[in-house]
Amino acid sequence: MPTLVSVNPATGEPVGSVEAATAADIGHVVRAARAAQPAWAALGLDARAAAVKAAIPDLAAAADRIGELATLEMGKPLPEGKGEASHCATGIGDEVDESVDALRPELLEDKRTRTELHFDPFGVCAAITPWNFPVLMPMQSVLPALVAGNAVVLKPSEETPLCADLWARTLAKHLPAGVLQVVHGAGDAGRALVLDDVDLIVFTGSRATGIRIMQDAAAGLKRVILELGGKDPLVVLADADLDAAAAFAVRNSFRNAGQVCVSTERIYVHRDVEGPFLDRVLERTKALKQGDGREPGVNVGPMVNARQKQVVERQVAQAVAAGARVLAGGGPAPGNFVPPTVLAGLDHSMEIMREANFGPVACVMAIGSGTAAVRLANDSPYGLGAAVFGERTHAERVGRALSAGMIGINQGCGGASGTPWVGARHSGYGFHSGKAGHRQFAQVRAVSRPLATA
Ligand code: ADP
Repeated sequence: MPTLVSVNPATGEPVGSVEAATAADIGHVVRAARAAQPAWAALGLDARAAAVKAAIPDLAAAADRIGELATLEMGKPLPEGKGEASHCATGIGDEVDESVDALRPELLEDKRTRTELHFDPFGVCAAITPWNFPVLMPMQSVLPALVAGNAVVLKPSEETPLCADLWARTLAKHLPAGVLQVVHGAGDAGRALVLDDVDLIVFTGSRATGIRIMQDAAAGLKRVILELGGKDPLVVLADADLDAAAAFAVRNSFRNAGQVCVSTERIYVHRDVEGPFLDRVLERTKALKQGDGREPGVNVGPMVNARQKQVVERQVAQAVAAGARVLAGGGPAPGNFVPPTVLAGLDHSMEIMREANFGPVACVMAIGSGTAAVRLANDSPYGLGAAVFGERTHAERVGRALSAGMIGINQGCGGASGTPWVGARHSGYGFHSGKAGHRQFAQVRAVSRPLATA
């Protein structure tokens, strides 16, 4: 079997390795999943939920190691790696309960007919996940699929196989054999899994790969849930609280070194407040500490690999050549690091305002009105998250006109518990989380009978 080596992007050192699966290995794993699935489904909703929850103590005990591996494999600050792993242990109870509530049969009645809606498993689910939240994304893909009664084959990102592997294997020990399996490899392994005998594909990653998966799934009419990239706008209106807006702009542009699907990628600020807003942004940017995620106090790590760094550097260089001003960062940096960078004077002729950037770059463009901000914010094929800062009713009016799936008013785009994680337009096809999201991991079957014969 070929070996997949996981490399620390902060140092270039190997972290460890896993065996990469061939198409034949994947076929074997999918057959084992297919064989295990009927008995798993037959256990029923509550017993499945209980089996998954029984893994919580083991996952909690392994959380520190899983979190360390996340930091070593993709560079995020250690408290964030450990926090993510800990959430993927202790947070399981709430996730599972929410799925159970969503999947209980529902009764509908009118004067003549009684209908039961059942939420049945599809069969075998392929979960293909990215590296930026290397434990959270496996959890959000795997749990609802399992609770719904599917068997799952997880293929984590080739950048972060070790942390995802430890998380999934710790969970799988509490489940019947074959119900949750892990395969490793790059895009070719992902593609082989999609083309194998699976019924549902849940994928988080780039728009280009999402399109390829949908094409590969089409011949078999396989179900897909695709969470794709974003190009999230932040609109700062003239009546915004500039301290709060700048704090959000810096946090959400540089968190995880900008490698977040709902990172702020474009900032439209009213020209009347651009100066004081930029002053605040620069002050906060200067306070950031970049380095190896294991060093205390570091809040911005490296890019996950050299390819990502090259994309970011190329887009910054193009923007600067076209007239953008570099207010922070912008210079060369060692290894896979890109310093937190603030650019102003941008416009939509520049690639950095149109294509996914996925780096620690805050891109600021001055606008003359909320209407202009809406037009520019919506001038993108993407539509994942968005945020508007301003006087509440004004910001809500602007927010309602945005074409994103999740819109934050004077906050980021995360909602109350039960809110789906949903992208509009090219940012998603299907979605997960919340009642409506959990139901997408199940086939609805409606069983109806006349009331008169009750
Ligand atoms: P990135 O290259 O930025 O990590 P991708 O969207 O290419 O983003 O990768 C996300 C996940 O999709 C990874 O697990 C990757 O191995 C997998 N993948 C890449 N190409 C394919 C493909 N054609 N079919 C299925 N999975 C794929």
